[in-house]
Amino acid sequence: MKAITVTPGASGSLALKEVEEPVPKRGELLLRVLRVGVCGTDMDIVSGFYGQAPAGSPYLIIGHESLSRVERVGPGTRGFEEGDLVVPTVRRKCPEDCLNCRAGESDMCLTGHYREHGIKGLHGFASELSITDSSFVVKLPEALSEVGVLLEPLTIVEKGVGQAFLIQEARMKWKPKTALVLGSGPVGLLATALLRLRGLQVTTVARKPSDSLKAKLASLTGASYVDVGETPLSSMEDRFDLVFEATGSTSVALEAQNLSGTNGVVSFVGIYRSQAGTEDAGKVFTNLVLGNRVYFGSVNANLSYFREGVADLARIEKRFQGLLGRIITDKVPLSKWEEAYSPKSGDAVKTVLQF
Ligand SMILES: [Zn+2]
Ligand SMILES: [Zn+2]
Repeated sequence: MKAITVTPGASGSLALKEVEEPVPKRGELLLRVLRVGVCGTDMDIVSGFYGQAPAGSPYLIIGHESLSRVERVGPGTRGFEEGDLVVPTVRRKCPEDCLNCRAGESDMCLTGHYREHGIKGLHGFASELSITDSSFVVKLPEALSEVGVLLEPLTIVEKGVGQAFLIQEARMKWKPKTALVLGSGPVGLLATALLRLRGLQVTTVARKPSDSLKAKLASLTGASYVDVGETPLSSMEDRFDLVFEATGSTSVALEAQNLSGTNGVVSFVGIYRSQAGTEDAGKVFTNLVLGNRVYFGSVNANLSYFREGVADLARIEKRFQGLLGRIITDKVPLSKWEEAYSPKSGDAVKTVLQF
């Protein structure tokens, strides 16, 4: 079968390879992959920044955002049938089976020895067939067969927003009215949609003109869109109950902290590169204390967020018709696979590889 592979750590090693078909063992599912989404994590792996091949394999099959149909059910596997539309979670528990992995929270793994499909120690889904442990798989209704590949990025939002609510509701009475979303990539747009669904007034900010596709997609949910080219973040006067930082920009992340209101919460989901300090750290911490604010980071998502994500994806599809389909701007057939991993034009949002 065909698979898209890298030699981890080696930039320029991305290749379409003929590899052996996997065979499902007890408790596993063999999946016929329909679509695989491409994101910044994939591009970092392609550039050789990270990625780890499975034990004994010289290469790693990439791809962690996927939509598949069950091709074959492994021995002793219950709850699935051939043809089911499914999405597997990305992370698998650590061999030590730490407190959190044991509780089904491998996204909060304590040892760091977890494995991740397409990223760390487990082959990903950018191949015609793949296998995964059936206890980490959710089923999707047929109505989501066009847009279900957006479930994995939505789960990043489900966790980042869900944990903000958990933290806030545990420490005080909290009735949030306003949210600020920083970034208008797939995660920023999905966060905008989810927060609108939760009934908040949302302002989405990005470095794109107001007539760009990303701005239009944010507005389609009823959110206000602000182009930072016209209105710099430092000049924004509003203070928000919840700030969701999805740009991955260090300077934006520093500004994000000042945009939360009294008792506010800031959720960070980006990967931030080192950058010379652009703000006085003392001001950041004083602001944190005097405003009773909470700043927290969130990575990965466990099965519970995937289950919530399936329900919310269906709600978003119903309430903001056409939004999800328009987030998928580039559908690349396997025959042109290299295009999926090449730089895109300004109006590209999500690239999906079709198998
Ligand atoms: Zn991703
Ligand atoms: Zn663990």
